[in-house]
Order: sequence, then C-alpha cells, then structure tokens
Amino acid sequence: MTSEEIRALTQQYIMPTYGRFPVVIDHGQGSRLYDPEGREYIDFTSGIGVCDLGYGYAPWADAIAAQARKLGHVSNLFYTEPAAKLAEILCKRTGMRAAFFANGGGEANEGLIKLARKYSFDRYGQGRATIISLKNSFHGRTITTLKATGQEVFHNYFFPFTEGFRYADANDMDALNAVAGEDVCAVLVELVQGEGGVLPLDKDYVAALSKLCAERDWLLLVDEVQTGVGRTGTLFAFQQYGVTPDALTFAKGIAGGLPMSGILANEKCRDVLGPGTHATTFGGNPVCAAAALVVLDTLSDAFLAEVAEKGRYLRESIEALQLPCFGATRGMGLMIGISVADGYSNRELANRLIDGGLLVLTAGAGMRLLPPLVVTKQEMDDGLAIMKKVLS
Ligand SMILES: *Cc1c(COP(=O)(O)O)cnc(C)c1O
Repeated sequence: MTSEEIRALTQQYIMPTYGRFPVVIDHGQGSRLYDPEGREYIDFTSGIGVCDLGYGYAPWADAIAAQARKLGHVSNLFYTEPAAKLAEILCKRTGMRAAFFANGGGEANEGLIKLARKYSFDRYGQGRATIISLKNSFHGRTITTLKATGQEVFHNYFFPFTEGFRYADANDMDALNAVAGEDVCAVLVELVQGEGGVLPLDKDYVAALSKLCAERDWLLLVDEVQTGVGRTGTLFAFQQYGVTPDALTFAKGIAGGLPMSGILANEKCRDVLGPGTHATTFGGNPVCAAAALVVLDTLSDAFLAEVAEKGRYLRESIEALQLPCFGATRGMGLMIGISVADGYSNRELANRLIDGGLLVLTAGAGMRLLPPLVVTKQEMDDGLAIMKKVLS
C-alpha cells in the first residue's frame, strides 16, 4: 500500500484519538526509519522512548522469534523462565526486592497507586489514601492516572474521576507541606517530568522529599515509565539522585518495542499485593520478557556511560548551532528538552523538521528528543545537519 492509501484507511477505520504527523512508517534500521515509498527519516523519537535498541536489531528480533516458537503465552497461574529471570535482573540491578509485570505505563501506575493505598490500609486502616503528585506531571490515561496527573487540562470530560489526589509545585517543599495531611499515604513523582517538558527535579528537593516520606511513613513512588531503562544514562533515573524509592514503575523502553511495563517494590512493599489483590492477563508475557532480557543484556554499565556521553554531545551540538528558534537545552542522558524561543510554536517546528526528514517530539511548550539509545555519532550528525538546514 502507498502512504496515501494507508492514511486514508486509518482515517476511515481507526478512532481519531491521535493528532498524527502526516508520515507513514514502514520499516527501520538502526536509528533510521523509512516510509513505504523509501523516504528516509532520522529518528530522534524512538516511538516515545520505547525503541531503545533502534530498529532491526537482530539479537532482539531473534530472541522474540525463538520465544514465540517455544511459548507465546501462558497464564500467570503458572510459572515461566523469562519473567522470573527478568525480575531477578531488575531487582539485582536496582536493589529493589520484587517485580510485578503489566503491559503499559498507565496500567503500571494504577497498580502502584493500589499498592500505596493497600500498604497504608494494612497498617493504618481507612482514611489515609491521598496521594500527592506534582503539578505539570503525567502519569497516564486511565480514569485514575488522569487524576494523578497534575495538570488541570487532563481533568475533563470523563467525570467522575477517582478521588484522593492533591498537587504540589515541583521543587518546592513549602508547596508540598502546604498540601500534606493525616490522610496522605504517598508522594508520586517523575524525576524528570517527560510529557510536561523534560524538567528534571532538583537533587536537594528529591533528598528532602525522600526524608519527609520516611519520617511520615509515606511511600515515595517514582514513575520511571519514561526515565527508566537507560534513558537518562543510568538504568533508572533514581540511581543518579541518591534516593531509593519505595516502589517505582517502568514501561516504555523495557522490551525495546513490545508492550510491557511493571512495578519494582522494596522490602517493605514487596508483599503488599498478595494473591487475589492485583492481576493482569498478559503481564510478564514470555515473548515480551524475552525481548526485555535482550534490552537489559545490551544496557551494560559501559553502554549506559555512552548514553550519558551521547546525550552531552547532542545537547552541546544543538546549542552550538545557535538556531534563532531554540533557547537552552536541558535533560539527562538521551532525554533532551529544548526551549522554543518567543514567536515560534513547537508543533510548527516539529512539522518542519519532520518534513525535512528528522522525526522529533514536543513536550510542554518545548521540543523533546528521545533518540534510540543505540544512536550512532553518524546518525546524530545527520539529524543535526537536517536541523541546521531546516531551521537556520
Ligand atoms: C508515557 C507515560 C505514561 C503512560 O504510559 P502508557 O504506556 O501510555 O500508558 C505514564 N507515565 C509517564 C511518565 C509516561 O511518560
């Protein structure tokens, strides 16, 4: 089918929930994607932080094919080796004590919220179920995670929302204390707000937050759906903040392109969700788990150090272009935000870059770059050349 035919068929039969760019993607190799007519794009999006190993990565495809031939799915009423091994590796590399596997970020955050409320219920009974989240955050699209998201624009249409969330400005302990209370059981944060605009939390703030949580027996919940799995230059972002969450969620990059997510919990939270309290049919699917094992195998400490180095190179190179439409860059590792100068619209700039052959994302009022973690210097330079040509 041609790009035009695929666009028309999509518009005819798929619900119009996405504001799509007018590009059809057919296949990819490394950090390059191609449309059905063979037009090449440099990809600085990795499917919104998902395809960390890029496209056409043979060990990933081979592991998936082998596992699919062996066993494609079995219910969680039985045991499987890929999920067990994956949980072991995640725990050993984070110091956490147990995993729960699910399928998407919003779903993992639902489980995280259930875990926090049950932890508190088990210890203190009812009436201590409120979770404080941060303004400008993003935690998902379910009825509950929309409400956990600290942006009023998301609290619309789908009333009634789940109760029990209050919001505080990021990086402001006074604001947090102002919404504290006897009814609180947890604080939920992204260490680098992703959808909100690639805004890293301050280290001092996170340390103070962690201390307050410990004092009041509030759980420190970290949403690493976007920051996790190597994106920021360590396996998880919390490892650069000098704090340990009570529980965290991961999703996007975990299986390199297959749908998978999960929760990691510490000692005090590992047994909170006992038999019958939480479940999902597909969670820990052996094919997804086999793909995730390849991802974690690839993300060695040396590889992660390179991610940090590549992130520095890309940011410095963008700043060196001195494009009139861009302001300062920010972020961690290969999670990069770029401010857009007054008078420019991020959506318009994204359209022009994509039209020029470079796929990019927006976030908040700025631009966001999430290249595959395997991106090469040549691919970065080719993307930078497009940026220079299109935006100078
Ligand atoms: C993408 C994202 C989610 C939602 O994940 P889905 O897989 O789309 O449900 C939640 N939290 C953060 C921080 C995200 O970036």
